[in-house]
Amino acid sequence: MYEFAVTPAVTQLRRPGVTVDRVEPESIADQLDLESGDRIVRVNGRPVRDYLDFRFQTSGETEMTFLVRKTNGESWEIDLERDEGEDFGLEFEQIVPRQCANECLFCFCKGNPEDARPSLFVRDEDIRLSFLYGNYTTLSSITPDEMDRIIEQRLSPQYVSVHATDLKTRAYLLGVDQERADIFDKLERLLENDIEIHAQVVLCPEINDGAQLEKTLRDLAAHHPKIVSTAIVPVALTRYNNDERLTRVTPKFCQKTIAEVGKLQEEFFGKLGTRFAFLGDEIYIKAGADIPAREHYGDYPQIEDGVGMVRSFVNEFEALLASIQGSKFKVQNSKSDPKKNIRTNELAIKPDKQNLEHETLNFELSSLKATIMTGEMFAPILSEQIEKLNKLVGSEHHVLAVPNTYFGGDVAVAGLLSGQDFIAVKDQVVGDFVIIPEHVIKSDEPILIDGMQFDELKAAYDVPVYATDLFELLRTNLQSSPG
Ligand code: SF4
Repeated sequence: MYEFAVTPAVTQLRRPGVTVDRVEPESIADQLDLESGDRIVRVNGRPVRDYLDFRFQTSGETEMTFLVRKTNGESWEIDLERDEGEDFGLEFEQIVPRQCANECLFCFCKGNPEDARPSLFVRDEDIRLSFLYGNYTTLSSITPDEMDRIIEQRLSPQYVSVHATDLKTRAYLLGVDQERADIFDKLERLLENDIEIHAQVVLCPEINDGAQLEKTLRDLAAHHPKIVSTAIVPVALTRYNNDERLTRVTPKFCQKTIAEVGKLQEEFFGKLGTRFAFLGDEIYIKAGADIPAREHYGDYPQIEDGVGMVRSFVNEFEALLASIQGSKFKVQNSKSDPKKNIRTNELAIKPDKQNLEHETLNFELSSLKATIMTGEMFAPILSEQIEKLNKLVGSEHHVLAVPNTYFGGDVAVAGLLSGQDFIAVKDQVVGDFVIIPEHVIKSDEPILIDGMQFDELKAAYDVPVYATDLFELLRTNLQSSPG
């Protein structure tokens, strides 16, 4: 899930227009005396609600009129001309997420500790963020205006949490009445207008599994290729989810699901040329089953939902090892999987990392001795790869599985580890430094999920702690390592 720099966003009232965040020096916007904080309210008389509207209203236009509300309260009407495709030199505020009106049984917000950082309580349900970042919406409270907007502005693909096509089951899962849960006319309209959909099922044992899941997958696959893929991810319950209607996912349940969905995947592959329904990595890991091969996933349509992420990692790591072997430790260009960020649209505003402290860690490849921390789920997979690296280059890395005591329950993914979880294992550190996953630090601020400052965590350790992308670290250092 894309996490917002939400503190101002959730408290802001919606005002007309879109706020300028930054103006590029000597750009068109600069020459027009636009400044940070100005709001562009209309383009050619048409209202602008956000930067997607701005892009849509200005796309292909070379002559236009902006109505601008300046920070001092003045209104300016600006006529301007530009060459075709010329950039305005404007950066805009993030989109304020629209909130959902559901009460899903398994909503992650209900499983958060009270002191989790505010952005984790944002129940976003926003078709713009679905288009930009691949966030799922349920479409259950989408307005007619939003429907029109998806179609008019071609906000495709959309990522939709369907969960079940049986209406009663869907309504039960979303905690809404059946009228609200019924999205099939809306889906139909989007599909008729060539909007692509990627569907999601959060799999809840005894509710939408078994025959219900088969019905859902068959109903959705009937609309392939416009419904492109379906991700099936297991419900993850923290120790704060006490709803008795929910059953935890067990290894046996995962094995049964793999067998059932496996049959459908082969059937779909024969008919559609794609397996269409993809199980989350966690299901294979929990079942103790092998992760499917690369070709199983096609172009990894839902990788950011944890579907194929492990396969992508293992293949990428093995390619890196092969490069090391082939080049006597001088890796010049070990390519990332080009499909990895498939869900994040190029129009999406990326968090500004400028304020984050990113230290460079340089080392002699063969003298490495570090503790690499990750979640319990991924640790065995990472450990196997790191062992291969150790053998190849003579390093002595150690992978440490960090239990998630902050959320507890079924939560074993690296991305939800908290500052206190890392501190709880500090006595198990071996080697000269510690690496923690880069994404446990908020993207635009150096804090962890429990609000702990990264500096506070570092101060608790006797050795340096780096929050970094392991691949980038290895690539950088392999390139500078002596052959
Ligand atoms: S749609 Fe459901 S799971 Fe998503 S934020 Fe809303 S209540 Fe939570």
